Amino acid sequence: MPAAISPLPLPDPKLFAKPSPSPAQKALQKMGLVRPIDLALHLPLRYEDETRITLLRNAREGSVVQVEATVTACDVQLQPRRQLVVTVEDGSGTCELRFFSFYPSHLKTLAVGAQLRIRGEIKGGFWGRQMLHPAFRIAGGELPSALTPVYPTVAALAQAYLRRAVVTALQRVELAETLAPDLPAPPMAQMAPMEFNGQNSLHPLPSLRSALTFLHHPTPDVALTTLEDHSHPAWQRLKAEELLAQQLSQQQSRRERGRLRAPVLQFASATANALALHEQLLAVLPFELTAAQRRVSTEIAGDLARAVPMHRLLQGDVGSGKTVVAALAACIAIDAGWQCALMAPTEILAEQHFAKLIDWLEPLLAARGRCVAWLVGGQKKKERTAMLALVESGEAALVVGTHAVIQDTVRFKNLALAIIDEQHRFGVAQRLALRQKLAAHGMEPHLLMMSATPIPRTLAMSYYADLDVSVIDELPPGRTPIVTRLIADSRKDEVIARLAAQVASGRQAYWVCPLIEESEALDLSNATAVHVDLSEALPGVQVGLLHSRMASAEKKAVMAEFSAGRTGVLVSTTVIEVGVDVPNASLMVIEHAERFGLSQLHQLRGRVGRGAAASACVLLYATNDSGRVGETARERLRAMLDTNDGFEIARRDLEIRGPGEFLGARQSGDALLRFADLATDTALLDWAREVAPLMLDRHPQLAAQHVARWLGGKSDYLKA
Ligand code: ADP
Ligand code: MG
Repeated sequence: MPAAISPLPLPDPKLFAKPSPSPAQKALQKMGLVRPIDLALHLPLRYEDETRITLLRNAREGSVVQVEATVTACDVQLQPRRQLVVTVEDGSGTCELRFFSFYPSHLKTLAVGAQLRIRGEIKGGFWGRQMLHPAFRIAGGELPSALTPVYPTVAALAQAYLRRAVVTALQRVELAETLAPDLPAPPMAQMAPMEFNGQNSLHPLPSLRSALTFLHHPTPDVALTTLEDHSHPAWQRLKAEELLAQQLSQQQSRRERGRLRAPVLQFASATANALALHEQLLAVLPFELTAAQRRVSTEIAGDLARAVPMHRLLQGDVGSGKTVVAALAACIAIDAGWQCALMAPTEILAEQHFAKLIDWLEPLLAARGRCVAWLVGGQKKKERTAMLALVESGEAALVVGTHAVIQDTVRFKNLALAIIDEQHRFGVAQRLALRQKLAAHGMEPHLLMMSATPIPRTLAMSYYADLDVSVIDELPPGRTPIVTRLIADSRKDEVIARLAAQVASGRQAYWVCPLIEESEALDLSNATAVHVDLSEALPGVQVGLLHSRMASAEKKAVMAEFSAGRTGVLVSTTVIEVGVDVPNASLMVIEHAERFGLSQLHQLRGRVGRGAAASACVLLYATNDSGRVGETARERLRAMLDTNDGFEIARRDLEIRGPGEFLGARQSGDALLRFADLATDTALLDWAREVAPLMLDRHPQLAAQHVARWLGGKSDYLKA
């Protein structure tokens, strides 16, 4: 040890502190514009043409023009309100500039004789041409050679600052080409021939750098419509890149999963003295499987028999019979000596969706010395401890519940198959947690995800490219079609009369209240009010109320009353809680239907029409004071009358509302496609699907670079 020397005085820490970021820098960060590539991909909303000077004589009314002119008069008028009125002329004509707010400095810059460059919209009028609050500065200086970008921004971030930041980013950003020349080029056939950066559009592809440079600073001769409708080759290039990044990331994760191990679950067949569990289940079912159910069951059994974890999405319209398919899969796992977990997003859903299944399976399991364990959030400690013990010992062959199933404290003996109902309502973290549950065995469980929201094909191919998809495209026989009506809420009384008639004839009904996203409290007061109204309007009928704030025991009690047929009408706030299977319910009234997504409405509608009785769904829409509903809302709702096909409805929802609805918790919003539009860019999507595997095989380095550029740290989210 060196001899101690007297310590130096510590330097003032302020000297080393980083300068704190300016408000503009903070705003940039908040908008996610951090890396140069983020700024380079922050594309203009629109453009302004400052590349030319127009003569006033040639300036058309209603157009935005830039002129250079001399001030001939400058006055503050006080009538009809205080304003600054400046007259300018450019030798070809005159124009009046009006400012309703102005500073003393304006009077100096705009003094008589000043030569100005002025930009604004030309308005005609009784008193001649005018511009209101135009932009202006001293005339002269070079004209820009490109259109001026106008970026999406926030108040704290001035356009000028953002423009400079983008220019700097474009100079610094690394944009080496990742599309190797031996790969097929993206299709660009649908575009009209046009000039682009001196290249003819027949040239297969602008480079990424030239595409981005162009989109930020297009030359003034560009057809603006091709920028607006994103058909310009530069746009196509970006969309192709983005879709490719998504495909690469997903196909990569599919390959990675292919290297993981999972238990091989062979289909047990009957022995001389015992039927296999799935055979016993089929024997106790009160119906035959549909052809579609058989087909998807075979697909799933095929996956389970492989040593690679299954990652399959089972899609089927409401009521198509997914639960039985799930049960058959569970049987295979259990017969092979493993455990199966079954999860739904809420306790009520878990109970309703799995009640029948458990009725069927429990006796069969008991005969084998196994049982079913329940794990839900609000369980009593004692009950929970007992359940956890059953799960850990392996006595529980089937573990049913909510998110509680995947908590750290839950230790499975040997979980081989996890089934998630309403998969889009589970997050990435939860799916990842599930996959950890077999880590002790050095393996991952098989994963079966179910969704009643049919996912349109293009969406499945892009966002779910890492999944295998099975579709039940057939409803069980004997369902009565549901009649759907669209009725203005001014005619609510008629609807209530009809409701009364239904209930009087021994049927039951649902009344779903508006979903007011901003406020749970409002939801509640609304449902309560409806509950009171209906109770008054239907004397002698038991009207139930179900809302999200109720304790779970209370909810259960309400549901039990309805299932037992004692409640005639069930008023409910939230969509999710109405996952009921009550065949006697034959009328569904949805208030403020215009606030729901089509797929949600379709889901709700599927709660009736489960029995033999003719069923109806009434969509009440709100009208405004003049008695009209927004035309778009009405048009949208009409789709519900046109078709009963969940896929068709989902496709229209995608067109109207974008993919967010379908993805739910799967991805954080910013991992969504920003440039490509799945409703129109199908050719590019097909191309990306074809190119991604080639690129992974031949150019893994470039593929990794491409994904990093486009997805940054987000690609993990695409994988779970
Ligand atoms: P979902 O796909 O919406 O989860 P369910 O599995 O809840 O549908 O099935 C809806 C109803 O149809 C249930 O009452 C179920 O017992 C019944 N069901 C399922 N498959 C058949 C079938 N092949 N034939 C007749 N009824 C069926
Ligand atoms: Mg279901």
